[in-house]
Amino acid sequence: MVSRVIPVDPFDLVVFGGTGDLARRKILPGLYRRYLAGQIPETSRIVGAARGEMDDAGFRSFVADALGEFLPGSTRDGETVGKFLAHLHYVPVDAKGEGGWPDLARLVRHDVVQAFYFSVAPALFGDLAERLHRFGIAGPEARIVVEKPFGRDLESARALNATLAEHFHESQIYRIDHYLGKETVQNLMAVRFANILFEPLWNARHVDHVQITVAETVGVGGRGAYYDKSGAMRDMVQNHLMQLLCLIAMEPPYRFDPDAVRDEKLKVIHALQPVPAEDIVRGQYRGSARKGPGGEPSYVEDAENPASRTESYIAMKVQIANWRWKGTPFYLRTGKKLRARASEIAIVFKEVPHSIFGDEEGWRENVLSIRLQPNEGMTLSVMIKEPGPGGMRLTEVPLDMSFAEALGEDGSDIPDAYERLIMDVIRGNQTLFMRGDEVEAAWAWTDPIIAGWEARGDRPKGYDPGSSGPEDALMLLHRDGRRWREIRE
Ligand code: NAD
Repeated sequence: MVSRVIPVDPFDLVVFGGTGDLARRKILPGLYRRYLAGQIPETSRIVGAARGEMDDAGFRSFVADALGEFLPGSTRDGETVGKFLAHLHYVPVDAKGEGGWPDLARLVRHDVVQAFYFSVAPALFGDLAERLHRFGIAGPEARIVVEKPFGRDLESARALNATLAEHFHESQIYRIDHYLGKETVQNLMAVRFANILFEPLWNARHVDHVQITVAETVGVGGRGAYYDKSGAMRDMVQNHLMQLLCLIAMEPPYRFDPDAVRDEKLKVIHALQPVPAEDIVRGQYRGSARKGPGGEPSYVEDAENPASRTESYIAMKVQIANWRWKGTPFYLRTGKKLRARASEIAIVFKEVPHSIFGDEEGWRENVLSIRLQPNEGMTLSVMIKEPGPGGMRLTEVPLDMSFAEALGEDGSDIPDAYERLIMDVIRGNQTLFMRGDEVEAAWAWTDPIIAGWEARGDRPKGYDPGSSGPEDALMLLHRDGRRWREIRE
């Protein structure tokens, strides 16, 4: 199957923070891949704008190095890279100063799509937004893309929204959550709303529970001091896991339209119940027993904060109070230094009301598993008769849909989430971006949960690196007669 490339209009894209880690690893390599796909019109400009003196040639060589580091050699022939680099420019600007801004104003055109990617610390968003107008750079249709973290609580998120709203209309603001750019996540909507098969079963009558797992193998080393101020709840649950939960739980929007979809997601967030202390397990990874070279530091060592109570792992049982989901728990968990790097949403269906086969060994529930990484795809497990003459014995088989296979490639053609989202910005499609009220509602749910454990003085439980998290997290499901799915690649 050859993927269809939808053309976009010529654009000028300014990447503030164009020399930063995110630009180097994701944004610029992603733009190159879209160039390969024929989606960067010949007259488009990509402008790096950051602190630090550099000229166009310097920036082009910086980007060439980034492509070399983050993309396979097979995608980078010299001529093509050269043509891509010709689109690039660099302007030194200080978000808080005045220098460079007139140069940027001369470079960015008003008769093409304008996009400004704020890949800088959120504390600079207001300064950038104000200067884009004061120097006459941003036209009335300009779009801005803002990165996470979008606030650290309701108050700061409101303040950020208010700052951006002084300069840009909500229809111009693209709050990025790269989880929403994944092929599987969009496919989730297609599977739910373009097939008659699932929707009748998609409710508390037929779904026993839902598990959402985002497991990482890396620790917080390198950015421990930053992470220690946030923790898994703020860093992952409030945004990424919440967005996944919304897509699973929302009602069918009346149309596949940005506001229709986001209205439905918002209703889910409003229906989330407060989470009692006994439904939350927080953890912190321990160091490996072996100290010295080859030994791994513990969370508090990585965070350089021996007294830290910040969680590098969290598991929680979440209830949605509406007609569709009353009584079907959503179990969420995410953490660092776990057994495998794996993200999965599992819809676990109820058992058949009565088994005509007796108490069959190996009997399992039907599970729809939606894998976000690695190996994006969906699997529906169904029970069938074990093939052969062995009588009526049941076995579980997967109905597998790996997108890589379905695309007839090794998966390298699936656009990375960032590429897809940047192209959506250029097309002016906000469906996969969070609206201001959604982000605020998510914080309004999150804040009292965090305030609760802070008031109780709860300490996170230790867990071993390479495990599936603290023992107590197993109990969260065991006590409900359920078990977590294995974390595996
Ligand atoms: P970074 O520290 O590597 O880079 C920061 C960039 O901002 C540099 O280009 C720097 O020159 C520029 N900058 C700093 N101060 C400036 C100023 N006063 N005026 C103009 N430019 C200035 O940061 P990063 O890791 O690339 O992250 C950028 C943003 O993206 C942050 O908000 C971060 O939270 C977010 N983010 C990063 C990642 C990631 O993987 N790195 C992932 C998700 C979100």
